[in-house]
Amino acid sequence: MKIGLMGGTFNPIHYGHLLVAEEAREAFQLEEIWFIPSGCPPHKRHDELASAEARLYMCQLAIEGIPYFRVLSIEIESGETSYTYNTLRLLHQQYPGNEWFFITGLDAILELPSWHHAEELLDMAHFVAVSRPGHKIEELSRVFTEEQRKKILTLTIPYLDISSSEIRRRVRHQRSIRFLTPEPVRQFILSEGLYRGDRG
Ligand code: ATP
Ligand code: MG
Repeated sequence: MKIGLMGGTFNPIHYGHLLVAEEAREAFQLEEIWFIPSGCPPHKRHDELASAEARLYMCQLAIEGIPYFRVLSIEIESGETSYTYNTLRLLHQQYPGNEWFFITGLDAILELPSWHHAEELLDMAHFVAVSRPGHKIEELSRVFTEEQRKKILTLTIPYLDISSSEIRRRVRHQRSIRFLTPEPVRQFILSEGLYRGDRG
């Protein structure tokens, strides 16, 4: 099976993530997309991070009713720092027959050279670099060698200038987040009082 993987903090998940997944599914004829929220992300500030359980649950709320989207809790259950390298290794072991497409926004893939075992990563899955406001596809040639660049698939999608940071900022300022994330996610954020910045 051709499976798309979307890693991220999903703090919280939003329509940008969902559109990226859907567009990649269609473009590369992927049978399923698996969302993998990270447990303890190495690159993120931790003070605004909702609990792993809350981020996982919001992913489940967001994909409910979409048969080809799944949420995997492997990075959260591992309890260790989440490295894509470890996740891909584990998936290769668990599902040896699958062909993997690791889907990232441009901002994320431009950071890939600093990831754990960066050298091997590009051979462990097809990496798909998806357009995102603020970055240009041409920037790939700045951070990757020509040989690496050839391994990266690119995909241009309608720009949705939505980020989890912006959603958190809006919640902190009591602004609306309606239509930026699926309604059940919005309601969960508000009912749990996530991202209000008045705790701890
Ligand atoms: P934060 O603002 O907290 O960094 P984020 O919106 O960037 O959150 P992440 O969980 O960091 O979300 O991203 C997970 C993946 O989704 C990354 O590969 C990122 O590039 C991609 N992504 C997120 N939002 C978009 C978007 N609006 N368009 C394209 N790609 C996106
Ligand atoms: Mg991000």
